[in-house]
Amino acid sequence: MDPGLLEQIVKKISQEYNASQIHLYSWGEPFLHPQLAKMVAIAQSSGAQCFLSSNLNITHNIKEVLNSNPYCLRVSVSGFTQPVYSRNHIGGDIEMVKDNLTQLSAVIRTKRLQTQIHIYYLRFKYNLHEEKAMHAFARKLGIGFHPVWALFIPIEKVLSFADPNSGETDLSESDRQVIKNLALPLDKALEVCRNYPLTCPMRDGLITLDILGNVLLCCSVYDNSRFTIAPFLSSRPEDLRMLKVKHPFCSQCMKHGIHTYETRGAWECDEIAAQNIDPEFAKSLSFRWERVKKTIYYKIIPNELRQQAYDLYARLVKF
Ligand code: SF4
Repeated sequence: MDPGLLEQIVKKISQEYNASQIHLYSWGEPFLHPQLAKMVAIAQSSGAQCFLSSNLNITHNIKEVLNSNPYCLRVSVSGFTQPVYSRNHIGGDIEMVKDNLTQLSAVIRTKRLQTQIHIYYLRFKYNLHEEKAMHAFARKLGIGFHPVWALFIPIEKVLSFADPNSGETDLSESDRQVIKNLALPLDKALEVCRNYPLTCPMRDGLITLDILGNVLLCCSVYDNSRFTIAPFLSSRPEDLRMLKVKHPFCSQCMKHGIHTYETRGAWECDEIAAQNIDPEFAKSLSFRWERVKKTIYYKIIPNELRQQAYDLYARLVKF
């Protein structure tokens, strides 16, 4: 995206939306953008928190980017050693990621910058034995660590899996291999997610834009040619909301619980994943503590306070 376009978008966001966050990524690697530091500064000028998510194999202009003071930088990984990491991060180099993380955390410490960095560990069946090593590495650097069950995306493919008669393209052999490697089995996760409410945080609480400033249905669909709904700059917030609410793809997605699977997940998902993985790992990873946190989140905190509680927790654990 051109910085001039982002400036216009941010101006409209400040005037017409009550946005607390701007995420400068969607299906892409933000550090490929030659003017990322400028983009971060523009996003931050709106008063919203600026989030970046990277695989950190590339760090063009990293110091300038950090000087622009993004609120949060997430680094996604899927293993601690190269043979394991490269199964999902194909073509990536985990030693380079670790080097980059080491340098970044040193810059943040010495310059006393405010950016929160965390490692986002995608759990597959084959990488659980390396999670503790990555957690220890994060602790050593003084950065956050957040493990999650890897999910299958985009939604078009999940729909093809959930309903082979949906008209979506058939899954490829490599898609099926990814599904087989998920620690949280897709079929069982969807089974429980189908029982969750017909509201979608991505539809109701997020606006996803492409590089030309067009609004997409959400950030979990992939095909822009099908899911571009309107140009952002010339659309009113209420019109965008109606276009999304009436979109026929959302009812298909919700019918199969895909919106819950791709966003907040179902309460039962941890239990399902724990039963699917090696019991030794299920015991050794910090599931009990994760369970306590989720009990507080889902069963004790009232619905209307969950976002604030989540933000506070994220701040505390550098997530
Ligand atoms: S219902 Fe599904 S397709 Fe629609 S916005 Fe939510 S996640 Fe995206």
